[in-house]
Amino acid sequence: MSILSSEKILVANVPVSPQHYIDGKRVNSANSFEVISPIDETSLGSVAAGGADEVHAAVAAAKRAFPEWAALGPKGRGVYLRRLADVIESHIEELAIVETTNNGSLLEASRLRVMKRGAHNIRFFAEWAEKLEGECWESNGVQYQVKYQPTGVSALITPWNAPFMLTTWKVGPALAAGNTIVIKPPEWAPFTCSLLADFAEEAGLPPGVLNVVQGIGEEAGAALTQHPDVARISFTGSSETGRIIGKVAAERVVPVSFELGGKSPLVVFADSNFDLAVRTAVGQYDNAGQVCLAGTRILVQEEIADTFLEALKNAANNLILGDPRKPETNVGPLITREHMERVKGFVERAKAEGATVAYGGNVSEDVGGLYFEPTLFVDIPAHAEILKEEVFGPVLTLQTFRTEEEAIAMANDTEYGLAATVFTGCEERAARVGSAIHAGTVWINTFFARDLKAPFGGSKKSGIGREGGNWSFEFFCDITTISSRVGSFTKK
Ligand code: ADP
Repeated sequence: MSILSSEKILVANVPVSPQHYIDGKRVNSANSFEVISPIDETSLGSVAAGGADEVHAAVAAAKRAFPEWAALGPKGRGVYLRRLADVIESHIEELAIVETTNNGSLLEASRLRVMKRGAHNIRFFAEWAEKLEGECWESNGVQYQVKYQPTGVSALITPWNAPFMLTTWKVGPALAAGNTIVIKPPEWAPFTCSLLADFAEEAGLPPGVLNVVQGIGEEAGAALTQHPDVARISFTGSSETGRIIGKVAAERVVPVSFELGGKSPLVVFADSNFDLAVRTAVGQYDNAGQVCLAGTRILVQEEIADTFLEALKNAANNLILGDPRKPETNVGPLITREHMERVKGFVERAKAEGATVAYGGNVSEDVGGLYFEPTLFVDIPAHAEILKEEVFGPVLTLQTFRTEEEAIAMANDTEYGLAATVFTGCEERAARVGSAIHAGTVWINTFFARDLKAPFGGSKKSGIGREGGNWSFEFFCDITTISSRVGSFTKK
């Protein structure tokens, strides 16, 4: 089906454009794809499915807009970006209900935290860019000056689990750095990125600075990563797709920033704050476990393992599975039937390999559709797939350890290295374990704390590069050293 009209569709009564947004205009599409709400599996409407032509138009528009946007400098761009943050803040309620309807994430969390974070992402990086100064020094009669220069067109590709937050986390630094952008939103949750284009227009961003090409990953996404005028690719998604994009980027030597999958450990020592550790462990079922940072491998010190398992079981038992729009709900649906089958496959194979289901393990018959029960596996054979592969669903494993060394070895026994969480009451142990775990982020006695100043990204197969604070600008900018001979100028 084609999208040939500029008519908006209503998603939870919020008008949203199903079209692309290229060069400051809404653009039709010869093809489209259908978007289904995971809440009740009803159709939300058809969205433009772009291909090489739309991608080319968007990259060309971004390329045309680049020189003027770059010339504005950080302060000039900051005026627009602060306005964009203000516009986002004035639309929190619409954003939250559209995202929840589209991807099934919890409405309360979206309204109270996630969408506000979207505005913060834009404002923070606008301010950071204004303060960003390259170093300057003299050595052997030469003055060295480090400059952060805009690079051109950035391609931003994001996943469906937190599309608005993760997109703004890339949009903020890319635009603040002076680049212009083409966003390829996730096909399973494309609507809040479409709203972002409306907000960019409302904030008065010049045409071509922010473009959105909707479409399927293998078509629109692939065309974007292959485009010769794309200077940077920032991607968050699966490790499989990361590998594909990495190959394409390598052909043209384009820098990539990848945040990929995870299989993060959550380590609980016997000396930890027990209640906090249990609360955090049960919190891993948030967003139905569809969180790349989730600590899905729980490792508990042997002497507290039985009581911990009992407490976790009770806490999981109290979780309310259901409609993510209701404030009392703790666990919403999985994103699609296809994804639900994938999660089910992991659970079935874990059982077949001899792991024991402590609780859960099935699609919830009471709620129906795509709602999967919070699940925990125990007594798991060491070789089992469930300990190694990312499930991206409400499925945790629990293993026990005796010593600190054993805990570190088990935490590191994974190809991934996105994050780790450690609970201990001992500061020295925290320091030892924190630096022995191989991961981009290690949380100690806390979870999900993420200051935008801090570097964020994955070690091992969980990613390439870091974003956050200066690290974002090291990626999105060309860093130039200007070396001039001291005393060689005759005029100011
Ligand atoms: P997830 O299943 O976590 O969403 P994916 O890696 O499938 O992870 O998707 C993340 C994003 O990458 C989505 O926007 C998707 O459309 C896009 N994508 C998928 N395949 C490709 C590809 N071959 N090239 C570029 N982008 C892609």
